[in-house]
Amino acid sequence: MSNWKDRQVIIVGGGIGGLAAALALARKGIPSQVIEQAPEFKEIGAGIQLGPNVFWMFEALGLIEPISALAVFPNNLIMMDSVTGQEVTRIPLGDSFRKKFHHPYALIHRADLHKVLLEACRKSDLIRLDASQKVVKVDDTGDGVIVHTESGKEYSGAALIGADGLWSTIRQIVVGDGKPNVAGHITYRAVLPTSEMPEQFRWRDMVLWAGEKVHLVHYPLRTGELFNLVAVFHSNRYEEGWDSYGDPAELHERFAKTCEPVRTLLNKIESWRMWVLCDRPPIKDWSRGRITLVGDAAHPMLQYLAQGAGMSIEDAVCLAEKVVAMNGDYPAAFLAYQQARYLRTGRVQIMARVYGEFYHAAGVAKELRNMMLGTRTPEDAMAGMEWLYGRQPELMAGAAAAMAS
Ligand SMILES: Cc1cc2nc3c(=O)[nH]c(=O)nc-3n(C[C@H](O)[C@H](O)[C@H](O)COP(=O)(O)OP(=O)(O)OC[C@H]3O[C@@H](n4cnc5c(N)ncnc54)[C@H](O)[C@@H]3O)c2cc1C
Repeated sequence: MSNWKDRQVIIVGGGIGGLAAALALARKGIPSQVIEQAPEFKEIGAGIQLGPNVFWMFEALGLIEPISALAVFPNNLIMMDSVTGQEVTRIPLGDSFRKKFHHPYALIHRADLHKVLLEACRKSDLIRLDASQKVVKVDDTGDGVIVHTESGKEYSGAALIGADGLWSTIRQIVVGDGKPNVAGHITYRAVLPTSEMPEQFRWRDMVLWAGEKVHLVHYPLRTGELFNLVAVFHSNRYEEGWDSYGDPAELHERFAKTCEPVRTLLNKIESWRMWVLCDRPPIKDWSRGRITLVGDAAHPMLQYLAQGAGMSIEDAVCLAEKVVAMNGDYPAAFLAYQQARYLRTGRVQIMARVYGEFYHAAGVAKELRNMMLGTRTPEDAMAGMEWLYGRQPELMAGAAAAMAS
């Protein structure tokens, strides 16, 4: 009799979530076929922050070493008031942070994170990667799935994971809830060689300058060779879109009320890329039969907790655990997986919106924010992060075993 592990799983989308899912399945001996619409498996974009919660997943995937070789481990998370230029709060990320959360806080270039996942996938005999194939249709045949691409190619497998991001085709098949919400927040991002970053700002910290309906973030990347800058402001001028070149005049206009150091930093950047931010409200049911979703396809969120990629990697590890626990009964495993995940990912989606309000507060709300954060001790701050950065025992047996040893 054939083993259920002989049949491949189809993964639509070769971004961070899709590659993490392929790797998590391969580590359990389950083969997969990843199908990516772009001509190459590649990430562009800028920096990504990784909380200690994601390092539990890297441990389960055997990736701590290659990730650590490319990451920067900052000294502090700092919030500055971008109008007064005063520090609001700082959370040291040294020994007591690492002791509490067992893992560090890291900053990495998105392309480096993707490259580490891709290289690990390429080393596995159980993972096949096809680019230049856009999935347009899926048939659930009851005991498997057949996937059709725009170019007329067909793939079959035991089950399907939609890891196809914010504008997911697979979500429309499973959930059918139309387009995501346009948040009315615009992000401009740039990556600079460290030599071009004004010397007084070359801090080895994750720094957020909170303003009124605006904020600016900067942090070092790629072991300190680069700096990542992210500027966010409210605007209803844009409907939707992704990764286009922005209009710096509007950026400078929106940041006109910020202090001189912030404006100096903004003036340094010549070529910004622009994102129109979108999310969705949380849902609890993103699986149907042999089809499920991971990452932004399942729970797209605003970036303000810096957890979208982290949640997609957590999804991947949890999903593989459930497939094995259910002995290859994919419909049951997918229900168990979404049951284990929806409250956590929903909380991150909701709290990301709340943090956005916090970063962009004005008037009394801003005074209250500065007072509340300014009077916190680092211990208070870390206690407030426990739900997010602490170990999630229900996510994966592998990390629990590592913790016990
Ligand atoms: C400004 C900004 C800052 C962020 N900062 C952070 C951060 O600091 N930390 C963090 O953890 N997260 C962060 N995120 C979130 C993070 O980038 C996303 O949550 C993450 O990339 C989602 O990964 P994914 O694999 O689910 O989707 P994606 O990265 O969107 O990948 C989807 C893939 O599917 C492919 N695809 C789509 N449709 C099809 C199809 N029909 N057929 C075949 N292939 C298809 C796409 O080409 C793509 O390669 C940030 C996001 C933004 C916008």
